[in-house]
Amino acid sequence: MDTPSCGSCHQRTPFYKRENEGVVLCKTCFRESIERRVRRTISHWKMFSPNDHIAVAVSGGKDSLTMLMILKKLSRKFEHTKITAVTVDEGIAGYREEAVDLASEYCKKLGVDHVIVSFEELYGNGLDDFLKGKQNRMTACSYCGVFRRKAINVAARRVGATKIATAHNLDDVVQTYLLNLFQGDVERFARFSPVLHDPRGAFLPRVKPLCEVPEKEVALYGYAEGLTFQTASCPYMMEALRNELRSVVNRLELAHPGVTFSAYRAMTRLRELAEPNVAPSELQACQSCGEPTHMGLCEACKMVGVRKDKLDVPA
Ligand SMILES: [Zn+2]
Ligand SMILES: [Zn+2]
Repeated sequence: MDTPSCGSCHQRTPFYKRENEGVVLCKTCFRESIERRVRRTISHWKMFSPNDHIAVAVSGGKDSLTMLMILKKLSRKFEHTKITAVTVDEGIAGYREEAVDLASEYCKKLGVDHVIVSFEELYGNGLDDFLKGKQNRMTACSYCGVFRRKAINVAARRVGATKIATAHNLDDVVQTYLLNLFQGDVERFARFSPVLHDPRGAFLPRVKPLCEVPEKEVALYGYAEGLTFQTASCPYMMEALRNELRSVVNRLELAHPGVTFSAYRAMTRLRELAEPNVAPSELQACQSCGEPTHMGLCEACKMVGVRKDKLDVPA
């Protein structure tokens, strides 16, 4: 009797069944399929050019460490491409230290330069301290999101990067899309793209090389590569609606393999249709920190209350 073997190389032992394609793969073929997928995503969306200096946002979680590993691998063929890992220390006691250490260790292993910026350095306070005085007007995630986006932008500019890569996977982008839909945020909803360019060049372009890889497969790739990553989740993670959407999408995908990809394809197509009608709004320099904003002060400066002495003023 035949022992089942990998559907791709027809030799090695099966490791993973990709339900939506009905194919069984061995560990090697699975890994190669993920690298191929990322390579295709990058070239389809024209994410990088050979001379890019890529700032890879690395949190220390499985997605970002896996992305760093894959980008490092893919960049071997491009001698003029440079990669620098950028980590934001939000100042979350008992959670962030471990992740920052993991990220550092890992960068050393891969031979990647690593830069850490902290909320404390940029905003005068870490997230824990910042949230102390706040009534629950906004969730911790929405403060943190604004601060982190800016911190990554500042850090990437400091190292002279030309692009920022973030590790959002397929599940993340579909959840965010639905979140924008259910929160009625039409602007963001219509604007989804794996590549965010600012036509005026005020923001560094942001790309999502893992956005066509399901979360489960990102985790499995990391596991297959023997990756150690932080498993604890952020103590502030309480985005109720996102969590519910996550379980809804997971359930749908289990019952109907492939629906997440279909949603993703629809998202990218819808953007193309909406494009001429989504006018980029005018950007100007924040009056306090100089980072790009729609008017007056940027969101981060509004949240923190302006402290010119503490804010980073990019040249
Ligand atoms: Zn195989
Ligand atoms: Zn500002």
